[in-house]
Amino acid sequence: MPYSLDQSLMYVKGVGPQKAELLGQELSIHTIGDFIHHIPFRYVDRSKINKINEIQSDDNYIQVAGKLIRLEKIGQGPRARLTGKIQDDTGILELVWFQGVRWLSTSLKLGEIYVAYGKPSLFRQELNMSHPEMETWESFQQNKVSGIQPVYSVTEKMRAKKLDSKSLAKISTEIFSVGISIPENLPSVLLQEFSLLSRSKSYQELHFPTGREAFFQAKNRLKFEELFYVQLELLLNNQLRKKNFAGNIFDSVGTLFNSFYQQHLPFELTNAQKRVVKEIRNDMKTGKQMNRLVQGDVGSGKTIVALLSMLIAADNGFQSCMMAPTEILATQHYRGLSELLQNFPIGIALLTGSTKKSERNRIHEGILNGEIHILVGTHALIEDPVRFKSLGLAVIDEQHRFGVEQRSKLWKKAPIPPHILVMTATPIPRTLAMTLYGDLDISIIDELPVGRKPIQTIHFTDKQRIRVLEFMREQIHLGRQVYVVYPMIEESENMDLKFLMDGYEAMLRSFPRPKYQVAIVHGKMKPADKAFEMDQFVKGNCHIMVATTVIEVGVNVPNASVMVIENAERFGLSQLHQLRGRVGRGAEQSFCILMTGDKLSTDGRTRIKTMVDTTDGFKIAEVDLQLRGPGEMSGVRQSGILDLKFANLATDGEIMTQSRLAATTLIEANTVQPNNDYAFVVEELKKRNKGKRDFSAVS
Ligand code: ADP
Ligand code: MG
Repeated sequence: MPYSLDQSLMYVKGVGPQKAELLGQELSIHTIGDFIHHIPFRYVDRSKINKINEIQSDDNYIQVAGKLIRLEKIGQGPRARLTGKIQDDTGILELVWFQGVRWLSTSLKLGEIYVAYGKPSLFRQELNMSHPEMETWESFQQNKVSGIQPVYSVTEKMRAKKLDSKSLAKISTEIFSVGISIPENLPSVLLQEFSLLSRSKSYQELHFPTGREAFFQAKNRLKFEELFYVQLELLLNNQLRKKNFAGNIFDSVGTLFNSFYQQHLPFELTNAQKRVVKEIRNDMKTGKQMNRLVQGDVGSGKTIVALLSMLIAADNGFQSCMMAPTEILATQHYRGLSELLQNFPIGIALLTGSTKKSERNRIHEGILNGEIHILVGTHALIEDPVRFKSLGLAVIDEQHRFGVEQRSKLWKKAPIPPHILVMTATPIPRTLAMTLYGDLDISIIDELPVGRKPIQTIHFTDKQRIRVLEFMREQIHLGRQVYVVYPMIEESENMDLKFLMDGYEAMLRSFPRPKYQVAIVHGKMKPADKAFEMDQFVKGNCHIMVATTVIEVGVNVPNASVMVIENAERFGLSQLHQLRGRVGRGAEQSFCILMTGDKLSTDGRTRIKTMVDTTDGFKIAEVDLQLRGPGEMSGVRQSGILDLKFANLATDGEIMTQSRLAATTLIEANTVQPNNDYAFVVEELKKRNKGKRDFSAVS
């Protein structure tokens, strides 16, 4: 009888209660299923004996067989080592051990034939092998294994109790030679369509590979399976939400939208903007709640898309709110929108943490009686006991700074949950977006307004600072404004603050008052002071703004044409890209100057080079993903998708796309149901999501 997955490991021949308990304690392996999920981290070919004269120093683990012709203990105490020589008919190989010296020196026998197994390396021009495992020829013959053997990770405690990788290999040999029934969990149509190995074969192949090709097929199959179930879950949630949550129907595009579009729009929309507005319009008339993410690089013009959406809401008798992550940004949105809406019959107000009591009361009233159509603010807006007359649409700018919890509060502001439009300027690679935001509908603004001159990015080292100052002076004399940004991270906050202040003082010396005005903004300042300084810069009353990354998100000063980033090597790519996006917003040629020290790490150099070479946010995000891995990409950690065991979000884009396609096809055809041939898929999905938090309900 073959073993089964749910069986306790204890019943496998050669395991017994003690080993089973240890495996349970140390690796949480309880069942046979758990055991076969403990995938080897590498493999060795123990059937092949190498000739000593054919060994290369860069060979991986190999074994040689020969006579032990020398054994010598060198030194005393903890620094003692044991050296030996093994000889076959082609040559002699040096062996050396630094641990277990005493035991080895008594148990190894000179003149005996051994098999030495280890990794050869070059030491002082000589080949040797450190810490080879030694087995007598006799025992090697008796225990002979054929083919490639798995190497499993074990803990120290397991090793001490002689439950090492070899013992685990024995267990898996037993399991797979008796046979184990591993039920298939992918529909057969998918196995065929995507030429996937069966699940059973795949596991067998991962423990005992039969060849390169089959091994990679096995891995790919398990990656596919894993990603397929992630996608299926996300898409089902999306479908479920659309089914369960009614949305306000905005079916008329009325006078407000039309007259604004025809008479007040200060520019022609880009095709990408038009497309996205259309997608939003379509969402909002379905009667289902919209949950749409708009991804668009900095400067791609997301604000106007938001405004047009809010006008559609107003046309249908609904209010909108627009939330930004910082007070500066909220204020700026408010100003920008107010300007666009000048002489237009739309009530707009700004509510933040620092709104005065009397003003606040007035706003509360206006929202409740419907005089205010658009409420702009920070998340104070949802914390505040604001009561809307009829909230129909919530726009959330720079989504990753808003938590799930905050968004759920928003839902409670209206009897029918408002449509949600999330805007982000952090482009993420498409394959990652599929997984991260798989349960949102995604729109992409992949086109910048015409006439924008690409920003020129230049790298300078600290030694060239004088040239940079000269360049700044030239630009200022041309009437432009300059940002100088310093890194600021929590771990070195005091130090960073000092750098910033030193930099500020140096600027004051190079650009003295009253001829020049230099402003400063950082996170430790009081909001009112920050706002004041910022305001000076926005109004053009000052030439240089020295700041930390508080200006990172969304600030819009079209006259600013130079962004100097100090210690640029300390910033991540996406941050550099965000910062650079602060310039290049007006008609003038803009510049981004990356200042670094002379010495750069390899990654640092790649980041700087990428910035100099391209302004395409999606390309930059791709490089970022390769450099840092998915775990460091914004939003990934919170999403919990890092628990993937087989797939790698940075490198398995193709499999991701395929699995997404597979899941979409099944869902669109409504194939996956608990009461048909696909019931096992539903079961598998449940099993996989047991105990996981449901993030989808409120995104
Ligand atoms: P972001 O996508 O970074 O939020 P904004 O909405 O702030 O970008 O837009 C950046 C700038 O581009 C603003 O000054 C805005 O008025 C301008 N803009 C937006 N769309 C267009 C367009 N289609 N043509 C010309 N300028 C545009
Ligand atoms: Mg913006």
